[in-house]
Amino acid sequence: MPLRKRSRKVPRPRTYTPGERVQLRGAYGVTGHVLKVIYRNSPPFFGYLLTVGGKEVEVAGRDVVDPPRPLLEEWRTWCADDLGYEYVALLDDARLAQLQREWTEANPVLARDYPRYMPRRIEGVEPVHRAKIVKTTERYETWSSNGAHLRVRHRHSWWLRCPCGLHEVVESSHAAKTRKAEHDTPLGQDPEQPGSDP
Ligand SMILES: [Zn+2]
Repeated sequence: MPLRKRSRKVPRPRTYTPGERVQLRGAYGVTGHVLKVIYRNSPPFFGYLLTVGGKEVEVAGRDVVDPPRPLLEEWRTWCADDLGYEYVALLDDARLAQLQREWTEANPVLARDYPRYMPRRIEGVEPVHRAKIVKTTERYETWSSNGAHLRVRHRHSWWLRCPCGLHEVVESSHAAKTRKAEHDTPLGQDPEQPGSDP
Protein backbone atom coordinates (compact mmCIF):
# COMPACT_ATOMS: atom_id res chain seq x y z
CA MET A 1 0.00 0.00 0.00
CA PRO A 2 1.41 3.39 -0.87
CA LEU A 3 2.36 5.46 2.13
CA ARG A 4 1.38 8.68 0.54
CA LYS A 5 -1.82 9.61 -1.19
CA ARG A 6 -1.25 9.67 -4.91
CA SER A 7 -1.53 13.05 -6.55
CA ARG A 8 -4.41 13.63 -8.90
CA LYS A 9 -3.47 13.04 -12.52
CA VAL A 10 -5.82 15.73 -13.80
CA PRO A 11 -5.40 19.09 -12.11
CA ARG A 12 -8.47 20.24 -10.29
CA PRO A 13 -10.16 23.03 -12.26
CA ARG A 14 -10.12 26.41 -10.61
CA THR A 15 -13.06 27.55 -8.56
CA TYR A 16 -14.62 30.84 -9.60
CA THR A 17 -15.39 33.33 -6.87
CA PRO A 18 -18.55 35.43 -6.54
CA GLY A 19 -18.52 38.42 -8.87
CA GLU A 20 -16.43 36.75 -11.58
CA ARG A 21 -17.60 36.76 -15.19
CA VAL A 22 -17.99 33.24 -16.59
CA GLN A 23 -19.41 31.44 -19.62
CA LEU A 24 -21.60 28.36 -19.94
CA ARG A 25 -19.70 25.47 -21.53
CA GLY A 26 -20.46 25.05 -25.21
CA ALA A 27 -22.49 28.27 -25.42
CA TYR A 28 -19.97 30.69 -26.87
CA GLY A 29 -20.70 34.24 -25.77
CA VAL A 30 -23.36 33.34 -23.21
CA THR A 31 -21.81 34.90 -20.14
CA GLY A 32 -22.95 35.61 -16.64
CA HIS A 33 -21.65 36.41 -13.19
CA VAL A 34 -21.11 34.11 -10.22
CA LEU A 35 -23.41 34.87 -7.31
CA LYS A 36 -22.62 31.97 -5.04
CA VAL A 37 -20.48 28.83 -4.93
CA ILE A 38 -22.62 25.82 -4.00
CA TYR A 39 -21.41 22.70 -2.17
CA ARG A 40 -24.16 20.24 -1.18
CA ASN A 41 -24.33 16.69 0.12
CA SER A 42 -26.90 13.92 -0.51
CA PRO A 43 -26.81 13.95 -3.46
CA PRO A 44 -23.34 15.46 -3.73
CA PHE A 45 -23.28 18.56 -5.90
CA PHE A 46 -20.74 21.21 -6.71
CA GLY A 47 -21.75 24.16 -8.79
CA TYR A 48 -22.59 27.81 -8.97
CA LEU A 49 -25.54 30.10 -8.73
CA LEU A 50 -25.15 32.42 -11.73
CA THR A 51 -27.01 35.40 -13.15
CA VAL A 52 -27.35 34.86 -16.88
CA GLY A 53 -29.41 37.32 -18.89
CA GLY A 54 -31.09 38.69 -15.77
CA LYS A 55 -32.12 35.25 -14.47
CA GLU A 56 -30.62 33.23 -11.65
CA VAL A 57 -29.61 29.71 -12.64
CA GLU A 58 -27.88 26.86 -10.85
CA VAL A 59 -25.16 25.28 -12.99
CA ALA A 60 -22.87 22.30 -12.29
CA GLY A 61 -19.22 23.27 -11.83
CA ARG A 62 -18.05 21.33 -14.91
CA ASP A 63 -20.38 23.42 -17.13
CA VAL A 64 -18.83 26.74 -16.12
CA VAL A 65 -15.77 27.95 -18.04
CA ASP A 66 -13.81 31.15 -18.70
CA PRO A 67 -15.60 33.77 -20.80
CA PRO A 68 -14.34 34.51 -24.33
CA ARG A 69 -11.54 37.06 -24.41
CA PRO A 70 -10.99 37.61 -28.14
CA LEU A 71 -8.52 40.47 -27.98
CA LEU A 72 -6.45 38.80 -25.28
CA GLU A 73 -6.23 35.60 -27.34
CA GLU A 74 -5.19 37.56 -30.42
CA TRP A 75 -2.64 39.56 -28.45
CA ARG A 76 -1.11 36.34 -27.10
CA THR A 77 -0.62 34.91 -30.60
CA TRP A 78 1.16 38.14 -31.58
CA CYS A 79 3.28 37.99 -28.43
CA ALA A 80 4.36 34.49 -29.47
CA ASP A 81 5.91 36.18 -32.53
CA ASP A 82 7.44 38.98 -30.40
CA LEU A 83 5.00 41.49 -31.88
CA GLY A 84 3.02 42.34 -28.74
CA TYR A 85 3.79 46.08 -28.75
CA GLU A 86 3.34 46.33 -32.53
CA TYR A 87 -0.10 44.73 -32.09
CA VAL A 88 -1.06 47.26 -29.41
CA ALA A 89 0.11 50.06 -31.73
CA LEU A 90 -2.54 48.89 -34.25
CA LEU A 91 -5.43 49.16 -31.81
CA ASP A 92 -7.50 52.27 -31.24
CA ASP A 93 -8.04 53.48 -27.68
CA ALA A 94 -11.37 51.70 -27.20
CA ARG A 95 -9.96 48.34 -28.27
CA LEU A 96 -6.82 48.83 -26.18
CA ALA A 97 -9.05 49.52 -23.17
CA GLN A 98 -10.96 46.31 -23.90
CA LEU A 99 -7.69 44.35 -24.18
CA GLN A 100 -6.58 45.77 -20.82
CA ARG A 101 -9.91 44.81 -19.23
CA GLU A 102 -9.63 41.26 -20.58
CA TRP A 103 -6.04 41.00 -19.36
CA THR A 104 -6.92 42.30 -15.89
CA GLU A 105 -9.82 39.86 -15.65
CA ALA A 106 -7.65 36.90 -16.69
CA ASN A 107 -4.66 37.88 -14.50
CA PRO A 108 -6.07 39.36 -11.28
CA VAL A 109 -2.94 38.64 -9.22
CA LEU A 110 -0.53 40.07 -11.81
CA ALA A 111 -2.77 43.10 -12.26
CA ARG A 112 -2.63 43.78 -8.53
CA ASP A 113 1.07 43.12 -7.92
CA TYR A 114 2.72 43.87 -11.28
CA PRO A 115 0.49 46.26 -13.24
CA ARG A 116 3.46 47.16 -15.46
CA TYR A 117 2.98 43.82 -17.27
CA MET A 118 -0.38 45.00 -18.60
CA PRO A 119 -0.44 45.42 -22.40
CA ARG A 120 0.21 49.08 -23.10
CA ARG A 121 1.24 51.50 -25.80
CA ILE A 122 4.93 52.29 -26.13
CA GLU A 123 5.90 55.57 -27.75
CA GLY A 124 7.76 55.12 -31.02
CA VAL A 125 6.70 51.54 -31.74
CA GLU A 126 5.47 51.31 -35.32
CA PRO A 127 2.36 49.23 -36.00
CA VAL A 128 2.87 46.04 -38.00
CA HIS A 129 -0.09 45.10 -40.22
CA ARG A 130 -0.74 41.42 -40.75
CA ALA A 131 -4.05 40.48 -42.32
CA LYS A 132 -5.49 37.04 -41.76
CA ILE A 133 -7.28 35.30 -44.64
CA VAL A 134 -10.29 33.11 -43.94
CA LYS A 135 -12.05 31.25 -46.74
CA THR A 136 -15.77 30.59 -46.53
CA THR A 137 -17.95 28.52 -48.84
CA GLU A 138 -21.66 28.91 -49.55
CA ARG A 139 -23.48 26.01 -51.14
CA TYR A 140 -26.34 26.54 -53.60
CA GLU A 141 -28.57 23.76 -54.87
CA THR A 142 -30.73 24.24 -57.95
CA TRP A 143 -32.72 21.76 -60.00
CA SER A 144 -32.03 21.74 -63.73
CA SER A 145 -34.82 23.17 -65.87
CA ASN A 146 -36.32 19.75 -66.68
CA GLY A 147 -36.02 18.62 -63.08
CA ALA A 148 -33.64 15.77 -63.92
CA HIS A 149 -30.57 16.80 -61.97
CA LEU A 150 -29.79 18.64 -58.83
CA ARG A 151 -26.95 21.07 -59.50
CA VAL A 152 -24.74 21.99 -56.60
CA ARG A 153 -22.71 25.16 -56.84
CA HIS A 154 -20.19 26.40 -54.34
CA ARG A 155 -19.39 30.02 -53.98
CA HIS A 156 -16.13 30.75 -52.23
CA SER A 157 -15.19 33.99 -50.54
CA TRP A 158 -11.91 35.05 -49.02
CA TRP A 159 -12.16 37.39 -46.03
CA LEU A 160 -9.28 39.58 -44.96
CA ARG A 161 -9.09 40.88 -41.47
CA CYS A 162 -6.43 42.92 -39.70
CA PRO A 163 -6.52 44.26 -36.13
CA CYS A 164 -6.21 47.81 -37.56
CA GLY A 165 -9.85 47.54 -38.68
CA LEU A 166 -9.37 46.21 -42.22
CA HIS A 167 -12.27 43.92 -43.12
CA GLU A 168 -12.69 43.10 -46.79
CA VAL A 169 -13.93 40.28 -48.98
CA VAL A 170 -12.54 39.21 -52.36
CA GLU A 171 -13.50 36.49 -54.80
CA SER A 172 -10.31 34.59 -55.42
CA SER A 173 -7.39 33.25 -53.50
CA HIS A 174 -5.03 35.16 -55.79
CA ALA A 175 -6.82 38.46 -55.12
CA ALA A 176 -6.68 37.74 -51.39
CA LYS A 177 -2.93 37.16 -51.52
CA THR A 178 -2.38 40.32 -53.58
CA ARG A 179 -4.48 42.38 -51.21
CA LYS A 180 -2.68 40.93 -48.20
CA ALA A 181 0.71 41.71 -49.76
CA GLU A 182 -0.41 45.33 -50.34
CA HIS A 183 -1.73 45.73 -46.83
CA ASP A 184 0.83 43.89 -44.71
CA THR A 185 3.91 45.60 -43.41
CA PRO A 186 6.81 43.95 -45.24
CA LEU A 187 8.72 41.68 -42.92
CA GLY A 188 12.36 40.73 -43.07
CA GLN A 189 13.72 44.27 -43.21
CA ASP A 190 16.90 43.02 -41.69
CA PRO A 191 19.77 45.35 -42.73
CA GLU A 192 22.04 42.32 -43.19
CA GLN A 193 19.75 40.86 -45.82
CA PRO A 194 20.70 42.00 -49.32
CA GLY A 195 18.03 43.67 -51.39
CA SER A 196 16.05 45.07 -48.50
CA ASP A 197 17.31 48.65 -48.90
CA PRO A 198 14.63 51.19 -49.78
ZN1 LIG B 1 -3.86 46.52 -40.94
